[in-house]
Amino acid sequence: MVLPGSLVPKFAICLDSGHGGRDRGARSGGLDEADLTLDMARRVRRILAPKYQVVLTRDGDAQISLSERVAISERAKADLFVSIHINAADNPKAGGYEVFVRRDPSAGSLLLAAGILVQFAKRWPTKRNRGLKYANFVVLRQARPACLVESFFLTNSAERALLASASGREQLGEAIAWGCGNFITTVIGREEL
Ligand SMILES: [Zn+2]
Repeated sequence: MVLPGSLVPKFAICLDSGHGGRDRGARSGGLDEADLTLDMARRVRRILAPKYQVVLTRDGDAQISLSERVAISERAKADLFVSIHINAADNPKAGGYEVFVRRDPSAGSLLLAAGILVQFAKRWPTKRNRGLKYANFVVLRQARPACLVESFFLTNSAERALLASASGREQLGEAIAWGCGNFITTVIGREEL
């Protein structure tokens, strides 16, 4: 039986913009992680929305607890969850990208994280791939495939310039969106509806 398209539930993606409200996250050069992650999440949403149902944990500068972010993902019955962050370090030379999964990751979380890393590696072959990392962050305590992306360092001048530019953030949005999209079509085996 083939259901009419309007009756087939869309694959749901929950995008989490790190920080917000009084919690600005990393700050450097007049830029706040909280603003940049929201901008990136909106770009990812714009790319994925035609094909998938996309839910943001915050669509504005709001302060949301980590457990509430998970609750939003649960309520949306998200099929996958990506938390978007930007790194920072005391050492201004530290740079690159990395993706976290929980310490006991499902195969789905590992494949989602690896898929996003591949998209970063393709777009920025000269930047440092810090690889897959493991941490039991609160937002990763979910049954669905879930990962947390640390998209470059705000404290690294070259990477801050990338993050500061709309075209740089668009590329970052594309990398995350393509990572999600490839995961859905190749791993879940579900084409766009
Ligand atoms: Zn962060």
